[in-house]
Amino acid sequence: MLPDKCSITEDGKPCVNPPEFVVSVFVDPDEYMVGVTCEKHKQIVSGKIQILQQQGKIPNGKVRFSKLTAVGTDCIHGDEEDFIQIDTNNLKN
Ligand SMILES: [Zn+2]
Repeated sequence: MLPDKCSITEDGKPCVNPPEFVVSVFVDPDEYMVGVTCEKHKQIVSGKIQILQQQGKIPNGKVRFSKLTAVGTDCIHGDEEDFIQIDTNNLKN
């Protein structure tokens, strides 16, 4: 499961913003998820990743930000409603 908060800690305080992007490092053909970030901390996250890559802590590849909103929630919600409707109709018949 994804964390429900931005991964950044600033001045010892964890960011309370909801995550807006999944941060991953793409090393063909694999993609490694590194964390999640809010819009505000995108730049900080990409800076941190570069440092971690120099230290060899994460794979040296292209950093990707994938937008999180809409995709997950809308899809899952729609599917659940479809299932419920199908069940109800079957019971009535
Ligand atoms: Zn943040």
